[in-house]
Amino acid sequence: MNSPISISLIAALLKMKCPRCRKGNAFKDTNPYHLKHVGEMYAFCPVCNLNYCPEPGFYFGGAIVSYPLMVTFNLLVSTVFYSITRDIFNHIMPLMITLTIASISIAPVMFRYSRVIFLYFLVRYDKNSKQNNLKLQTPIVSTSL
Ligand SMILES: [Zn+2]
Repeated sequence: MNSPISISLIAALLKMKCPRCRKGNAFKDTNPYHLKHVGEMYAFCPVCNLNYCPEPGFYFGGAIVSYPLMVTFNLLVSTVFYSITRDIFNHIMPLMITLTIASISIAPVMFRYSRVIFLYFLVRYDKNSKQNNLKLQTPIVSTSL
C-alpha cells in the first residue's frame, strides 16, 4: 500500500534520503560530524533495496559535484565577510583564514551532499519502488526453448 504523502525532492535531498523511494537513509549515521562514520553508506537502500554503489569508484563523480558546492559556499562566506568589513582587499588574510576555517567546518556536510546529489542525478524517483523491487525478486520462468 502506498503512503498518501510523498516527500518532495528537495526535502528528500536535504535529509539525504534514497533518490528512488525518498524514504530510506543513504548514510548509516545521520550526523555528518561523527567523523569516524562520515563516509559509511548503506550498500543498499533499507527500504527499496537500491544499490548505492553499483560499481567500484562510483563516487568519483561526487567529487565533481563537491567542487561547485564548495565554490558556492566560499562565495557566500566571502559575501558575508564583505558585508561586515566593506573592504576585502585590506582584509585578505582574515578572509583567507575565515574561508579555511569555514571550509574545513563544512567539509563533512559537503562530502555527504556531493554523494547524495550525484545519486539524485542518476536515479529517478519511483513511488512504486518497493512494489517493483518485490516484483523483481520473484523468479522469472522462461517459456522459450
Ligand atoms: Zn530507497
